[in-house]
Amino acid sequence: MSECIFCKIVAGEIPAKKVFEDDDLIVFHDINPVAPVHLLAIPKKHIASLATATADDALVMGKLLQTGSQLAIEQGCADGFRTLINTGRVGRQEVYHLHVHFVGGPDVLPPMLKR
Ligand code: 5GP
Ligand code: ZN
Repeated sequence: MSECIFCKIVAGEIPAKKVFEDDDLIVFHDINPVAPVHLLAIPKKHIASLATATADDALVMGKLLQTGSQLAIEQGCADGFRTLINTGRVGRQEVYHLHVHFVGGPDVLPPMLKR
């Protein structure tokens, strides 16, 4: 059995507040949201990180962005949102199953990074 927490969500072994699912991906609410809207879009296939994705993964990676975007808009981000992928140690990735964060809500986002 996989030890990967997001593979467990894919397999239905642990619950998640899903907002979308198809053959290739799932979108669900982050368990510890940083903003009023905080969705995670993940491929069903285990891809450890953006750094290990291959050309074969390009289609599903595009679907993560397109589907997650539409769901973020539906969930309250009609005026915009931020899309984030943390990668590897320096990127402070915590869960090593590729995921795209969609974060937003009414005027809650700070500037991207301090200069
Ligand atoms: P990372 O730092 O890897 O980009 O972010 C991992 C995200 O996954 C965090 O925002 C964290 O709150 C979320 N997360 C971790 N475990 C779970 C879980 O079991 N369920 C859900 N819904 N989100 C999780
Ligand atoms: Zn996984």
